[in-house]
Amino acid sequence: MNNPKKSPQIFLHIPPQVWHQFSHAMMNARTTNEEVIGFLFCKRHQVSKQKVRYLPQSWVVPSPDCYERQSASGLVMKQQFHQYLLQTFLEKEKLDVVHIHTHAERGQPEFSGVDDLYESEYARFLSSNFKKKPRLISGVFDETLQHSQFRIWDRKGKSFERINYSQSWFELSQEANSGNETNLMFARQQAFGEGVQKQLGELTVALIGCGGIGAIFAELLGRLGVKKWILIDRDRLESVNLNRLPAATQDMATQQWYKVHYVKHLIKRIYATGSCVKAIPASITDESAKQAVAAADLIVVATDNHSSRQVAQELALAYMRPLVCLGTHIDIKPDNTPRMYCRVTVPPLGGGWCLMCGNIINLHRAALESAADEINHLATRVGYVEGISDPAVFWLNSLCASTGVGIIHSMLSGFLDVDNGLDWIYEFPESNWLKTNPDYLGTCGCYFCGS
Ligand SMILES: [Zn+2]
Ligand SMILES: [Zn+2]
Repeated sequence: MNNPKKSPQIFLHIPPQVWHQFSHAMMNARTTNEEVIGFLFCKRHQVSKQKVRYLPQSWVVPSPDCYERQSASGLVMKQQFHQYLLQTFLEKEKLDVVHIHTHAERGQPEFSGVDDLYESEYARFLSSNFKKKPRLISGVFDETLQHSQFRIWDRKGKSFERINYSQSWFELSQEANSGNETNLMFARQQAFGEGVQKQLGELTVALIGCGGIGAIFAELLGRLGVKKWILIDRDRLESVNLNRLPAATQDMATQQWYKVHYVKHLIKRIYATGSCVKAIPASITDESAKQAVAAADLIVVATDNHSSRQVAQELALAYMRPLVCLGTHIDIKPDNTPRMYCRVTVPPLGGGWCLMCGNIINLHRAALESAADEINHLATRVGYVEGISDPAVFWLNSLCASTGVGIIHSMLSGFLDVDNGLDWIYEFPESNWLKTNPDYLGTCGCYFCGS
């Protein structure tokens, strides 16, 4: 017998905003506790040889008039309606199908014999009727939509395997360790829960921008427990950076270290073993950098320009990754008094608003920058321009980075509801936190996030 190839782990990640709308529609589609069904149509993202993600692009919950029969024991959809769904999402958009239904009971649901039969036939039908041979993922929920089970069928409808399912910001397992390792390093964080600590250890963070804010951010989130990093920055360390990079030395600047290597050094200083840091000294517009970022669990952008933030947001939307955006700004008024700001923005995952329609970044400036950026970078490299631009100080960057880390910590442990996104601006010396009401951020028909 041949050794079977190790098949990749499969993840279905439904972002919080999508889940809210979808589950609401499921609840509304029934009058009592009869079974309801819903469809998610997903794009497949092969993250690596070991990992595949299915990312929901559209969802449909048929209303009662789309069924021929609907009862507590099962339902049958009208042919015409079903045909319409398949035409739109499989034929035209070439997506895969997630079929979700409920069982009229409470607690952990199990697929029934009828489910097995029906789904096996359906899986075969899909792969034999559409050129792209879409896969069938099926899910069963209890009537409260709290408990579920998911599986993916092979194309012949002969067998299925369990898949990992998540409806939160991250697709990490929330089960705590069996507790065989006691790590003294995190003893003082135990109050937040072992599950949270384990998630931090599994989280892969893509950090775009390893300068004044990014480096502090990496040091803080690294100390909190994050060991897997993808670092993107094409710049090298310079003397003018030394006022705000923790543990950076004049030697590093003299030796012209890449900033990604310097931040990698910070992480390796925290974890002598067990960390995994991929340092990519390239621009975020490079294809290799984009691929790496798309594979992460979380994207953090800590650059000082609009164009790289736009790229980060576009990637976050395309691959449904959570995005955290960090920035500071110092203005010197005509009377020589400074006004200082730091800003942390987290657009919602799965729709609502984004950095573009929320006006967090300016598209016009982004376009100008990406043109000017190439020229400046070339000029800097051949030594025409000194790398001195806007004012920047360690303590203000630290405030920004700390707040960003705090928000990520709370996204994992749930002590702050970020589902609608957030945009916080801190003003100094007034010492005010201004919190934008996310309800005002979305505009109709955003070109980027489609909200
Ligand atoms: Zn069933
Ligand atoms: Zn938008």
